[in-house]
Amino acid sequence: YQAGIMRGCHLPGETIDGYRIKVKANIEMLDEVSTVVNNGGEGIGLYRTEYSYMNRSKLPTEDELYQEYLDLATIMSPRRVTLRTLDAGADKFVSTLGSLDERNPALGLRAIRLCMRHREIFKIQLRAILRASLAGNIAVMFPMISGLREIRQAKALLAEAKAELRQEGSRFEADMPIGIMMELPSAVMIAEILAREVDFFSIGTNDLIQYSLGIDRTNRFVSHMYQPLHPAVVRSIKHVVDAAHQAGIEVSLCGEMASDPFCVPILMGMQIDCISLTPQAIPGIKRIIRQATMDDCKKLLKLVLESPSVSRTNALVQETIFRQF
Ligand code: PEP
Ligand code: MG
Repeated sequence: YQAGIMRGCHLPGETIDGYRIKVKANIEMLDEVSTVVNNGGEGIGLYRTEYSYMNRSKLPTEDELYQEYLDLATIMSPRRVTLRTLDAGADKFVSTLGSLDERNPALGLRAIRLCMRHREIFKIQLRAILRASLAGNIAVMFPMISGLREIRQAKALLAEAKAELRQEGSRFEADMPIGIMMELPSAVMIAEILAREVDFFSIGTNDLIQYSLGIDRTNRFVSHMYQPLHPAVVRSIKHVVDAAHQAGIEVSLCGEMASDPFCVPILMGMQIDCISLTPQAIPGIKRIIRQATMDDCKKLLKLVLESPSVSRTNALVQETIFRQF
């Protein structure tokens, strides 16, 4: 059975009726790239760059980061590599950035907020990304964007890094695509506005579920209420996908939902362009995509959107998936 799944993993993520969905990988370290390629990953949809900043006594230098991104882009070329800028803080502790005594770290100084507070450190990363950009197909993505101002600030710093490199005579890809993580309810609500500012969206459901439902899933008292198919979550995702498509930009989903066989057909019904997941799960998810029809996925999505509760949705989804997939 496993051999059968692996054999099909290099075929494209395409339904029986010809609908194409890109299946990419989420990784944290360079040495995971071979698993991505062996398992049929069509690119890196999420490279969690924070891991190169963790568990070390000094911050990484620009050259170290440049070498890492260069290697990654070169090995994956011509496939796209989406580098998410430093998403430190809260659950991802980077000791070299100092320890913050925050009462509510998840609502505190993390990700893009932390980077804008340490602009010099952030700019080093942006310079390294730009310098590596000519080696392959690199896109940059900003985490935890809550509104327009943060996108504009991040883009301004990127422009500053470009100007510096130009002055130094370093070359880079001037049109490197810029995207944002859609993982805060505020960003979801104004998706139409944010879509005009960037080249792509990537929906981070791990955080979006946490912030939409107010549930810390590592908290054992409430973790059972962390529900990916809560109607509010499904509608949020649908809203983001529609807003992206209306603006003519690509939209991907890179949270754990992308590796859940019960969730993927619903995302396909929304005609999401890409999903990005842990490399180990790619073959199984590709198999689900290749056995589905868009027609069935759209029917399932319609039922799910009409469902008033998680329990009803879960029952519906299980019944449909076991029957059809
Ligand atoms: C997410 O929030 O869904 C996501 C992919 O980012 P991370 O899990 O790294 O926070
Ligand atoms: Mg996140």
